[in-house]
Amino acid sequence: MLGEEKKDYKWVSTLPENESLVTGLPDRVIVITGANTGIGAAVAKGALEAGAKAVYNIDLRAPLEDNEFAALQKAYPGKAHYLNGDVTKLDTIVAAFDKVIEAEGTLDGVVANAGITIRKGSLEYTPEEWDLIINVNLKGVVNTANVAIKNFLKLGKKGSIVVTASLVAHGTNKAAPSLPYQATKSAILGVVRGLGCEFACQGIRVNCVSPGYIRTALTTYPDTDPLWSTKLDIWGGMHRLAEPRELAGTYVYLLSDASSYTTGVDVRVQGAIDAW
Ligand code: NAP
Repeated sequence: MLGEEKKDYKWVSTLPENESLVTGLPDRVIVITGANTGIGAAVAKGALEAGAKAVYNIDLRAPLEDNEFAALQKAYPGKAHYLNGDVTKLDTIVAAFDKVIEAEGTLDGVVANAGITIRKGSLEYTPEEWDLIINVNLKGVVNTANVAIKNFLKLGKKGSIVVTASLVAHGTNKAAPSLPYQATKSAILGVVRGLGCEFACQGIRVNCVSPGYIRTALTTYPDTDPLWSTKLDIWGGMHRLAEPRELAGTYVYLLSDASSYTTGVDVRVQGAIDAW
């Protein structure tokens, strides 16, 4: 039984050896899924600004010449790498992590960020659409986290995993509902709590971030669209879309030693939407 196995386990403390506060990611190797654009790309930039040695973006397609990750590759030559992978296909994720470890010899932090949505009425989803969203948003996170943990254990690293959940993990999106998206994002909170508890004794931390409305490809409408002002009226809060870079600090904090006593939790970055 799992409990029995862990009873005699020697606890690995996450307490940093350095007594001063380390808020950055000095020389860390960070893997992020779905970092071509949007939140993932902003987290990649934040990690490099915080001193990361290398950032690896596992995404479906190579970065387009003019996208955010391609810009990062130009700004940080030799530090921002793209690896092909599909979070729904475990073998591609295993292979991508193998390449990171082959190149860097180590792994410090992983962001399970890739996610998709389809918006329509709850009764209109086909079984295939349900499968697709569950496969990317839930099983994809589990695949990424499992491969990350196995590698941390193999390397003897006190690694940190951060998962991207959503405001809809906590409440229904009145203005643009998506039942499978809400179901998967809520389920992720359970995954993070479960893995956070199970692997605390091995010094591995697992947390998530729940963003509010962020200006990315996923928020389909431009914010000049009248729909956005309706949405923000419904939700209250700061009455604007956030820029992806406004999330980066939270991810960097959760990846860093500054959060050494934090695991199994969700940090909501939602511009007061959830405070109403
Ligand atoms: P985004 O710009 O569309 O980024 C998502 C990235 O994930 C894209 O590069 C996408 O590639 C990639 N991806 C999709 N399926 C994948 C797969 N199977 N394997 C690997 N990569 C895959 O959107 P975003 O808003 O930054 O989304 C990032 C995360 O934030 C998602 O988990 C999303 O649910 C979450 N989130 C976003 C908001 C928001 O307001 N934007 C709010 C709450 C939570 P393609 O473009 O090629 O499909």
